[in-house]
Amino acid sequence: FADRDGTIWLDGEMVPWREAKVHVLTHTLHYGLGVFEGVRAYATADRGACIFRLREHTDRLFNSAKILRMPMPFDKTTLLEAQRAVVRENNLDEAYLRPMAFYGSEGMGLRADSLKTHVMVAAWEWPSYMNPEARDHGIKVRTSSYTRHHVNITMCKAKANGNYINSMLALREALDSGAEEALMLDNEGYVAEGSGENVFVVRKGRIFTPDLTSCLDGITRDTIFTLAAELGYAIEERRITRDELYIADEAFFTGTAAEVVPIRELDGRVVGSGSRGPLTEKLQAMYFDSVRGNRRQNSEWLTPVK
Ligand code: PMP
Repeated sequence: FADRDGTIWLDGEMVPWREAKVHVLTHTLHYGLGVFEGVRAYATADRGACIFRLREHTDRLFNSAKILRMPMPFDKTTLLEAQRAVVRENNLDEAYLRPMAFYGSEGMGLRADSLKTHVMVAAWEWPSYMNPEARDHGIKVRTSSYTRHHVNITMCKAKANGNYINSMLALREALDSGAEEALMLDNEGYVAEGSGENVFVVRKGRIFTPDLTSCLDGITRDTIFTLAAELGYAIEERRITRDELYIADEAFFTGTAAEVVPIRELDGRVVGSGSRGPLTEKLQAMYFDSVRGNRRQNSEWLTPVK
């Protein structure tokens, strides 16, 4: 991934892709304390490449840094502009963007007090996070043997680098068992989220999602709330058990990378019809129309890169 053409924004400058490097004693590499975002830009019909919900992602990045007490050396305006610039300067019509704030190699050990926060933003083409079939037919999911973060073990509201060890263990286990994603339960055994997605359940004409206690406050999740409201659904946030998913009419994951993905099977039980459900299909279509600027509503969600 490092050996390619292009430019990466690093600490205020555009750097050639191959030269955007750090030292092996980079603090975040050792202890995992850093914050990042996953953002997408889409090609729109009339406004060129646009970044979806850029402001919200940038706000979450700053909130993550605040939670972890990382001083941010750049203001929001600079980072909003940096994200637009990497899409533009790499000539991308559609892109996945990765802003990250990390500690450098100014000191070592947990007590290091001379650390500086560095910030990078990269962007690349990443058309489909899962196999492309997943969007239409759904994925097979396995409940994880790994528990999702507890609110007093790590900070769940921060999109923190180290939090993703838990996600990777769960995802690897799910993939090894022949599933495509993990369903993670909280420390009390209730449904929390996927390894990198929030989860929704449809049953008897109602839509449910876990409350935010131990899952990430997803921006796609929030988008689905708005889209569902337009269809007349008030999404209910509450505790959900894994067996509620077994007997759901529909279930789906949401995330910037994964977008809106139906769940067709959980732990060997067929969920609903075993394919994409009608409400999932509707919300998914509305989501793709939103990100591509094919709807008049919520045009403020899109920021043109030019
Ligand atoms: N949960 C986790 C653990 C995630 O990593 C992500 C992806 N950022 C999400 C949920 C979905 O969040 P968003 O819709 O903001 O991408």
